[in-house]
Amino acid sequence: MMEENIAAIATPPGKGGVAIIRISGKNPLEIAEKMFTPSGKTAVKQFEPYRMYPGTIDGGAFSDYGLCVYFKAPASYTGEDIVEFQCHGGENVARGILKQTFRLGAKSAGKGEFTKRAFLNGKLSLASAEGVADMINGESEAEVKAGYLLYSEKLTATVRDLQSELKTLLAGIDVSVDYPEEDIEEQHVKELSLALKGLSNRITVLTASYGVGKKIKSGVTVAICGKPNTGKSSLLNRLLGYDKAIVSNVAGTTRDAVEGTIEIDGRKFNLYDTAGVRESGDKIESIGIERAQSIIHSADVAVFVTDASEKIDEEDGRVLDMVQGKPLIKVVNKIDLTYDETETDADVCTSAVTGEGILKLKELLYEKSFGARGEDAAFLIEERHYDALRRANEHLQTAIMACETQPLDLIGIDVKEAWDALGEITGETATEAIIEEIFAKFCVGK
Ligand code: GDP
Repeated sequence: MMEENIAAIATPPGKGGVAIIRISGKNPLEIAEKMFTPSGKTAVKQFEPYRMYPGTIDGGAFSDYGLCVYFKAPASYTGEDIVEFQCHGGENVARGILKQTFRLGAKSAGKGEFTKRAFLNGKLSLASAEGVADMINGESEAEVKAGYLLYSEKLTATVRDLQSELKTLLAGIDVSVDYPEEDIEEQHVKELSLALKGLSNRITVLTASYGVGKKIKSGVTVAICGKPNTGKSSLLNRLLGYDKAIVSNVAGTTRDAVEGTIEIDGRKFNLYDTAGVRESGDKIESIGIERAQSIIHSADVAVFVTDASEKIDEEDGRVLDMVQGKPLIKVVNKIDLTYDETETDADVCTSAVTGEGILKLKELLYEKSFGARGEDAAFLIEERHYDALRRANEHLQTAIMACETQPLDLIGIDVKEAWDALGEITGETATEAIIEEIFAKFCVGK
């Protein structure tokens, strides 16, 4: 499909060494011919694809000396002809050149329009396009890595494999429905049920990986809890590496949950310093306590802090009760004051003042959240994909149950619906609204 030429600046706004202006469509070379004067003898129309040519780029009110490259359809990002200019990275330089492409007939590209064209031209699946967005928006190394797995069609390949097996089963059902033979049908239903169970198990493994994927995308939520003055804010600052939380030796000063984000081994952790949890007549502090309870409730991991220089008391016990049932790290802090190893069942002993034990605390945070370090399994990071797989599995479960009681054609309906749900991931059965929503999240120029 060759559409009208669209153009956009592909590099982010701001000053930089180089900026890139990209035109994609049915004939971007014709625009390039009118605004690019090659330094060498090769005319723009004779440009070899995928080769950089130096020359002068027309920016309307000014000229720039830069580079031009031509990508020939269909071997380009969008599947259409593409021309890119590399100019000096000044915002006004890039904007002037972009405006010149508009004067010569290119239309301003919408958000994600290049990638949308790539999808519509079959260059990548919908899931792969989402992987591109995950890479661009990735806030941690692990998110970029997971985004790349999506972009490189790892999930799509798995889903297509499942779809193709479902299609084979559907074909078998159609034959049996058209040419029914009683004895054969009984055997067929048995085999069908087994095959469906196998596929359902494979989908379950995939959906289970969303637990890790979700933590990679949104970050692990860590609630730092403990009674006032045990050093929660100081530990948070140590973990963050700068002073974010307000530290004070008046009990009850951390009234609000303070958030900070760190990366541990490439993965994102959102740290919350909860308000000192204690009985309080102070209204503001009580609000803080309620908030602390809600943070603890939604946290993936709780860090429970006690003070090494004080005896454990009922108040510590009350906090501990609140975090029961959560993956928990017990920290004894202030070991620079007193330290008796035999008296504690702590997972880690720290000093927020000297920094002792902080590395071990980070190590434990990673382990409690992700288990031992190992090779990453292919995990789901998009809720949309998780949801589609979950629905596909529900249809399979219905089909498996139907194998006991229902005729083959009715079983076939659910198998087909499972196939459709999987198609939402690759894009085959995604509605226009879903597609619009996905590309609206992109930036202009991608
Ligand atoms: P929070 O109420 O639990 O958030 O406690 P803060 O972080 O505000 O600390 C309370 C007091 O204990 C402050 O005076 C800190 O400087 C002090 N403190 C915190 N951690 C340590 C530590 O590891 N060693 C020592 N000696 N003092 C600490």
